[in-house]
Amino acid sequence: MDFIPYGKQFIDEADFKAVAEALASPLITTGPIAKEFEKRLCEYTGAKYSIVVSNGTAALHLASIALLSADDKVLTTPNSFLATSNAILYANAKPIFVDIEENGNINLDLCEEAIKKDPTIKAIYAVAFSGNPVDQKKLKHIRDTYNVKILEDCAHAIGSEYDGIKAGSCVNSDCTIFSFHPVKHMTTGEGGAITTNNKDIYEKIMLLRNHGMERKHDIAPWYYEMTVLGFNYRITDIQCALGISQLDKLNENIVRRRILAQRYDNVFKRHEFIKPLYTYDGNSSYHLYVVKIDFNKLKVSKIGLFNKLKEYNFGVMVHYIPINKQPYYRELGYGDEDTPNMNKYYEETISLPMYYSLSDAEQDYVIKSLFEILK
Ligand SMILES: *Cc1c(COP(=O)(O)O)cnc(C)c1O
Repeated sequence: MDFIPYGKQFIDEADFKAVAEALASPLITTGPIAKEFEKRLCEYTGAKYSIVVSNGTAALHLASIALLSADDKVLTTPNSFLATSNAILYANAKPIFVDIEENGNINLDLCEEAIKKDPTIKAIYAVAFSGNPVDQKKLKHIRDTYNVKILEDCAHAIGSEYDGIKAGSCVNSDCTIFSFHPVKHMTTGEGGAITTNNKDIYEKIMLLRNHGMERKHDIAPWYYEMTVLGFNYRITDIQCALGISQLDKLNENIVRRRILAQRYDNVFKRHEFIKPLYTYDGNSSYHLYVVKIDFNKLKVSKIGLFNKLKEYNFGVMVHYIPINKQPYYRELGYGDEDTPNMNKYYEETISLPMYYSLSDAEQDYVIKSLFEILK
């Protein structure tokens, strides 16, 4: 059996064909295919506007410049990839780490308490962890009641929904970001997108994606003007061709992931030492499948488990190390927040293999081996 990683991309003939066609066209950087990809993302998510960019971190950076001002306080989760809170720092704003719920998502009740205590808090950056949408009712309540901006990091969650609210529709948020890194459930190699229903945010981000420059052909054919300090966060039409082709099979991909999640759940839900992070939820896009393991009751430690896996030819991963405890963040004074759930979560959890092409037989092998190692 080939090595089974914790996640990987799925590329088929249609993807090869789409990329080859794009490569043969006269424009290969951001052009008509990028426009088409943006249109398709709007149709898929239900958002009014979308902007495709070079990666998910660039999406977070541009959204942060559009939403935040220097020194703004922003509530965010320690349970994410570094980029979520780094983007707050890029905008010279101040992340505040809030503890998580049982399911790995930011605790929105704690967010509300924090905002009540400190009305100068300006925004919440919420991550739909593992593809499980954040509670949209609570998000709506917070947005209706307090003057805070909401960004949804849906890098794990394209295709998920909550009471019919699609990830990226921005029904209860100002912006959503996506990542199309190969480990996510649709890919452009590297890539990302922002969706919004706000025209001002859309126009600002479009400008920032391309150096803050605007062509003014009415003045002269060569003339352009720079009005804000922007970046080169463009994505190529070659990548966007892959993106469109991947979007075509996204639903099928998620259906398979949900089946795999149910198969895992059926084994773990009554188990003593290994438990699913949350019981099967047909709304999750299952970018990740996370289990909690009570290592205190076992002879094997988390490191012991990772070392032992080399003999078994499959991979697991940890999502995530608490961001606030990173040396860089410690240097800024973070790390000792009161986040008991996050600390316990980090001790207990691992992500098991989860991807479209994972076969039943491979999954059964992973489950059998895991029990063997932890016995
Ligand atoms: C992957 C990821 C990002 C960053 O996306 P890139 O495309 O790798 O820059 C941001 N947030 C979360 C939650 C992610 O998983």
